[in-house]
Amino acid sequence: MSLRCFKCGQEIVPGGTSYIIRITAISNFDGIIEPQEHKDLKSFLKDIEEELKGLPEDLIEEEIFKEKEFILCPRCKEIFLANPFRKELDDLKPPEVIPPP
Ligand SMILES: [Zn+2]
Repeated sequence: MSLRCFKCGQEIVPGGTSYIIRITAISNFDGIIEPQEHKDLKSFLKDIEEELKGLPEDLIEEEIFKEKEFILCPRCKEIFLANPFRKELDDLKPPEVIPPP
């Protein structure tokens, strides 16, 4: 099976350069638990248990940790890393006046 760039579909020839883009999403915990809703740790854990009851295990795990991998050719890797979330690049507009050297 030959490798292909996930973005442009170009075949990665055997021995050719390609890159693995690994994206990891880990649930962020800021340390804040709404204390008014939980009198103690035991009732807090019980509430979580109730919330998760009936949900498939892999779905619960996916909420906490998810990793994906993509193979990219060198060109697509550069393009991706330059702006991975395709944000507006307003601040990168060329300057109106270029100062003399
Ligand atoms: Zn590509």
